[in-house]
Amino acid sequence: MGPDFTPDDRLGALLELVNDYYEQVERDRVLIENALAVNSEELESLYEKLRERTDAERAVLRSLTTSVPDLLFVKSVDGVYRTCNHAFERMLGLREDQVLGRTVHDVLPGEMADEVTRIEQEVLSSRAPDLREQWIELSNGERRCLEMLRAPYFASDGTTLGLVGIGRDVTQKKQADDLIWKQANFDTLTGLPNRRMLRERLEHEIRQADRARCSVGVLLIDLDHSKEINDTLGHKVGDDLLVEAARRISACTRESDTVARLGGDEFIVVLTRLNDARHAENVASKIIARLAEPFQLQDTVGYVSASVGITTYPQDAQDVEDLLKSADQAMYVAKRQGRNRFSYFTQSLQTAAYERQRLVNDLREAIAQGAFHLHFQPIVDVATGHIHMAEALVRWDHAVRGAIQPEEFIPMAEETGLIVQLGDWVFHEAARWAERWAALIPGFQVSVNVSPVQFRAEAARSRASWIARARDSLMPPHSLVIEITEGLILHTDVDVMSVLASLRAAGIEVAIDDFGTGYSSLAYLHRFDVDLLKIDQAFVASLDKDGGETALCEAIIVMAHKLGVKVVAEGVETQRQADLLAGAGCDSMQGYLCSRPIPPEQLEAILRHGAHGR
Ligand code: C2E
Ligand code: MG
Ligand code: MG
Repeated sequence: MGPDFTPDDRLGALLELVNDYYEQVERDRVLIENALAVNSEELESLYEKLRERTDAERAVLRSLTTSVPDLLFVKSVDGVYRTCNHAFERMLGLREDQVLGRTVHDVLPGEMADEVTRIEQEVLSSRAPDLREQWIELSNGERRCLEMLRAPYFASDGTTLGLVGIGRDVTQKKQADDLIWKQANFDTLTGLPNRRMLRERLEHEIRQADRARCSVGVLLIDLDHSKEINDTLGHKVGDDLLVEAARRISACTRESDTVARLGGDEFIVVLTRLNDARHAENVASKIIARLAEPFQLQDTVGYVSASVGITTYPQDAQDVEDLLKSADQAMYVAKRQGRNRFSYFTQSLQTAAYERQRLVNDLREAIAQGAFHLHFQPIVDVATGHIHMAEALVRWDHAVRGAIQPEEFIPMAEETGLIVQLGDWVFHEAARWAERWAALIPGFQVSVNVSPVQFRAEAARSRASWIARARDSLMPPHSLVIEITEGLILHTDVDVMSVLASLRAAGIEVAIDDFGTGYSSLAYLHRFDVDLLKIDQAFVASLDKDGGETALCEAIIVMAHKLGVKVVAEGVETQRQADLLAGAGCDSMQGYLCSRPIPPEQLEAILRHGAHGR
């Protein structure tokens, strides 16, 4: 690259040089005219002098321009090259004598020469310089990018004499800029536009759609189970999967559509000029079908599926941000409905999402203000008919909506992580009652529901406080039971076994809640080292129906007992269910037949008056 001065500096210097040159020629013309009026001898010596000087000047000009690494040339108004430098000759692969006296049509291919002629005529007629980047193709087929400055030069009376050109080879810088642009706008793994580029394209499509009065479809595609592939087969294989998925998705779209990678295993398809909403659905179905086909991954075969959310502009959302949000909401519906399907965004989804956000905010506040209380549901010992346990169930008193069911806010508290704080309160509140009731009825136990989220690493402090509480000398060991679900081992980042072991060492018992709904493997009982198993109410409900699952229930109870685990049946509503369970050897029962969840004061009254039988 040349010395570091701007094209304007370079042009100024060159113009000065050229002007000097022409002024000199003008002065020489006057000298010649004067000499002509005198005599031939003087004329001859003058001629000699002038020729020497002209040669010297030309040599100076040539050596000056030659030392400059930029391309330089001077043309007369008729487009004929008058001067060029070495850099110019080198780049075009021509010698000076192949350039001087000729036009651009002799040195560049036709189309490019036409373009150059057009620009130069514009410069000459406007009498103003022109700076631009220009790609030229060399005779060896190589393409170079030149930053070209062209400027007219004038005689002292203002007539345009020609133009000066300075060109700098900026190919390398251009390629580096392109690379940076590519990295900023495209996903390096799949080569697809990234989130940034997607935004830009989507904005563009929205403007186009406004003009053409048509719609834009947006599909958000989330691969199901790709995390499992990553976890089990490694990231390299996971990457291969994403590349292949990107290829399959692209193959389902038109040239004018945009396929982008949002990051992770999420892709977006933008369908332009959507006139019929069914087209979006067709593309979604095609993509789902293509992604469900097996993936050949190195030496194994992988399977994924896709959940797709469909949203359209301007029907569902009016800007890029909202379009992506609504596609996301629709995609989550598809996931919740069982994956491997698509779902449309609807207005009710939006309302629900809005409501949910409000409820999350309310929940945050409620936790800060302690707007919760506990109900306890008695659990009856089948052998004695006495209440010997109670399950703590949290209740939220919403200022406007009244009581909100845990089914509605627990999942929300889990997603937001607020469950850690809430669960902590539940535990300590339940422990307070457990302590009172254990003093009243020896061996009495209170069970507390614990979410998998409370087993994550970040909740370690909270768990430490439970252990400290359980070790509290005022509370006999085994007064507290925590209820966990089978899903626990799948959703935590800590060693669940060792956490459970430390809780049990502190005298806290462990129960498996909702047994029979999840993975339902008796192997878990063995692995988890649990004290209690709670048969899910759905299971119990099917007991007194025809072809009920009594045999299975019996088998579970027998197996549990063999492992030293006691069994509680949940959701016992009818006497017949109770009888069947008792006959099957079930240890305890919980359900509306005995009692609904009740306030602790009420339970305490029952316990105190000894009326804790059935
Ligand atoms: P769960 O732990 O399985 O609790 C039993 C649920 O079944 C309770 O609903 C209870 O009221 C209900 N139930 C009891 N007997 C019967 C019956 O005979 N028939 C019927 N149909 N239902 C019965 P609830 O209180 O609405 O709690 C729902 C779920 O919310 C609980 O299921 C538990 O998973 C969760 N939950 C409640 N409190 C907490 C808590 O403090 N922390 C956490 N993490 N989860 C909680
Ligand atoms: Mg429970
Ligand atoms: Mg349960």
